[in-house]
Amino acid sequence: MKTTGKVTGIVSNLVTVKCDGPVSQNEICYITVDGTPLMAEVIKVNGDSAAVQVFESTRGLKNGDPVEFQARMLEATLGPGLLSSSYDGLQNNLETMTGVFLKKGEYTDPLDHEKLWDFTPIAKEGDKVQAADWLGEVKEGWLPHKIMVPFSFTGEYTVKSLKEAGQYNIDTVIAVLTNDAGEEVEVTMTQKWPVKVAVKGYREKPRPNRIMETGVRVIDTLNPIAEGGTGFIPGPFGCGKTVLQHAIAKQGEADVIVMAACGERANEVVEIFTEFPELVDPHTGRFLMERTTIICNTSNMPVAAREASVYTAMTLCEYYRAMGLKVLLLADSTSRWAQALREMSNRMEELPGADAFPVDLSAIISNFYARAGMVYLNNGQTGSVTFIGTVSPAGGNLKEPVTESTKKAARCFYALEQNRADKKRYPAVNPIDSYSKYLEYPEIAEHLSERIMPGWVEMVANAKNIIRKGRDASEQINILGDDGVPMSYHEMFWKSELLDFVILQQDAFDAVDALCPLERQKYMLQLILDICKREFEFEDFEKCRDYFKNMINILRQMNYSEFQSEKFNGFIQQLNQLLESNGK
Ligand code: ADP
Ligand code: MG
Repeated sequence: MKTTGKVTGIVSNLVTVKCDGPVSQNEICYITVDGTPLMAEVIKVNGDSAAVQVFESTRGLKNGDPVEFQARMLEATLGPGLLSSSYDGLQNNLETMTGVFLKKGEYTDPLDHEKLWDFTPIAKEGDKVQAADWLGEVKEGWLPHKIMVPFSFTGEYTVKSLKEAGQYNIDTVIAVLTNDAGEEVEVTMTQKWPVKVAVKGYREKPRPNRIMETGVRVIDTLNPIAEGGTGFIPGPFGCGKTVLQHAIAKQGEADVIVMAACGERANEVVEIFTEFPELVDPHTGRFLMERTTIICNTSNMPVAAREASVYTAMTLCEYYRAMGLKVLLLADSTSRWAQALREMSNRMEELPGADAFPVDLSAIISNFYARAGMVYLNNGQTGSVTFIGTVSPAGGNLKEPVTESTKKAARCFYALEQNRADKKRYPAVNPIDSYSKYLEYPEIAEHLSERIMPGWVEMVANAKNIIRKGRDASEQINILGDDGVPMSYHEMFWKSELLDFVILQQDAFDAVDALCPLERQKYMLQLILDICKREFEFEDFEKCRDYFKNMINILRQMNYSEFQSEKFNGFIQQLNQLLESNGK
């Protein structure tokens, strides 16, 4: 018997319900308004009264309206067909929606039940299996999509029967398993999982030990992110958060991409739908969308659905990770998610924390980031979820609670700076304040010296040092004037500008410069550091300035030419001539 109830109070999307039986935290219920069921989630239980947040507009809802509890949490539907789909936070299919918004009380099925998939068995009859073990595989696009023992199964099972290779839809029973007690359970190609609970089903989650190449120099060269690592991009509006995330999506070393567009302005979300399907994967020449899922909620959708969207996105990622794939999750922006948490907690009249955010904001954010990671599956293979979120702090204030809490949770920090964006120095990542904690991991240092070159981490530290010294020199020049400082200050400043213009800045809209493979990044950093090592003999600061401006110009043009092409090598010749003159 399902627990039922009646509405007793309404504050916007927060509804109190008097219940006739047990209800549990995060349980899903439906409130029927004039014959239309609205989905809601329990967020507080007190005696026989429950507070539920409704996932859509509560207009017209009244006291006494009937409620039916579902004895389950908010779940994601998992199975072949998730890729190249767009969903809202409740996994309603956005393509089947009329216009951009669903009608009230309308919920769509996330997966196609008719479509036939080419199934090949992996396990065989008699095999002992457990949750997340692979039973078979279908081709989703060109990715192998594993059909797994559902994550909710506990203990060991024996494969009693398994479908032979053939074409089946997702509801076909592809395997029958028996448990210890000899009971039979059927497995189809689809399963459900509560989005707020991390998917287990792996053997071990070690520290990340390799980097994920992104093709973005400020990340790979200066502050690399690990495969299975976490990072975040805080920055004021218009500083390039979305452009940077899209660049990472395009070039990141990942099999599957999940984009969570969380409550950004409606027009920006439209941008995702117009831009993303057009993007071509530079590695395969195919559409990026074929291996992407978009989960999108705009700020005009109710807050509760916004809060759900990041969890739904993470659950999809964990599902693909269990198949042994590299998954990249990009959330833009996690601030809107935090604002949703704030709105809900305020309506509940909870004691507020800093800036009226919930007191446990930091724990909520940390728990979410902790779901990313590289894992060893039961069969010894690896899978990973790399997570990069953006944060849009009001007025660019990095001391606000969401940025501070995220800083504790994420290991890479890519701070976008208004000042750099104003000067069109894109990507506007602040080279001094940004960091990657992975550079401190000995296993990552070892990986980098093998993958790029020995001593790479020291070279990167050296480059950062030059940038820092350049900033100091520039401050001194500003205070004391061009003629008030020794020539070495000018030289230091211009060497840091060289690094800035050639390594840090990267044009996301140029076909060549947008994608900079590691091989090329290594070449460029070596080249620039060799130049920085030189000591020049300039007569005056104007000579120094002109000399470096000239050099920057040559090197920038190189960035726009194919690596080691004739054109590229032509610029190297020009550069060598300039270097030979030694500034004289
Ligand atoms: P945000 O998401 O932080 O509000 P956007 O990512 O939309 O900002 O970027 C705003 C604008 O900045 C872009 O439309 C683009 O003109 C410019 N921009 C940002 N990054 C780059 C880049 N790497 N190369 C060239 N232009 C950029
Ligand atoms: Mg944006």
